[in-house]
Amino acid sequence: MFIEMKNVEFIYGYKTPFEKKALENINLSITNGEFIGIIGKTGSGKSTLVQLMNGLLVPQIGDVVVDGINTKDKKRAKEIRKRVGLVFQYPEYQLFEETVYKDIAFGPQNLGFSEDEVKRRVKEVCELLEIPQQLLEKSPFELSGGQKRRVAIAGILAMDPECIILDEPTAGLDMRGRKRIFSIIERLHKEAKKTIILISHSLEDVAMLCDRVIILNKGKIHFDGSKHQAFENVNLLEKSGLLPPDILYLQHRLKLKGFKIDRFEYSIEKV
Ligand code: ADP
Repeated sequence: MFIEMKNVEFIYGYKTPFEKKALENINLSITNGEFIGIIGKTGSGKSTLVQLMNGLLVPQIGDVVVDGINTKDKKRAKEIRKRVGLVFQYPEYQLFEETVYKDIAFGPQNLGFSEDEVKRRVKEVCELLEIPQQLLEKSPFELSGGQKRRVAIAGILAMDPECIILDEPTAGLDMRGRKRIFSIIERLHKEAKKTIILISHSLEDVAMLCDRVIILNKGKIHFDGSKHQAFENVNLLEKSGLLPPDILYLQHRLKLKGFKIDRFEYSIEKV
């Protein structure tokens, strides 16, 4: 088991007058190599959940164990960050170095790798993320929106984590940018065999990409199972507040797409 969450509860502003319970009774096991989609309305606890998974947040109740290391063990925080990379929403806001190279190199340098190893890693992730070499000496602020996003993701991948968590990685990108990011994520999963956890508000993206779906609702796990079960069950989606008005139309489109591109494996008879 790679990530294990046992009876986890997380409260913001703990022991202050502003306490806000964000998650409760969370029990989850994530195995190496899974591709998991996390969906849920705004405020349902998605971002809190993933920050608990790499130890950025630590639960007040329960335990989060990553590859055998309890996230409460502060001395081992670096080891956890090395294993679980978290790409925040709009990660480009966190670019801060003078050059693209320095930004991508920051993570592995911080982990203590030699300069040669850092160079090798930067080169490798740039190839994967289609970041041309001539951009490396530019300021990140000179780049286009899609390029900035890819540079920010490269900074996380350069640490070579076994598990990559992405919080709405395509937010604000155009269709071309979205396709590019999704094809990179698919390669990370299929070719590099990474464990991927993807937060998305798009049911369609989750249905296309992920195998397992976790639905959060009001800080609790409302559903955890296969995407087939999740998307077949209109009641389930409706109760989680996830239904666009025309869910049947959406389901229909997903099925058709699956049939056409042979990725979403509904049987066409059901349409
Ligand atoms: P989501 O990612 O699904 O939108 P979040 O994990 O961001 O949900 O938030 C879960 C709950 O915790 C929400 O009610 C939100 O208002 C609250 N929350 C999130 N961050 C903070 C914070 N820094 N301080 C207080 N409450 C917070």
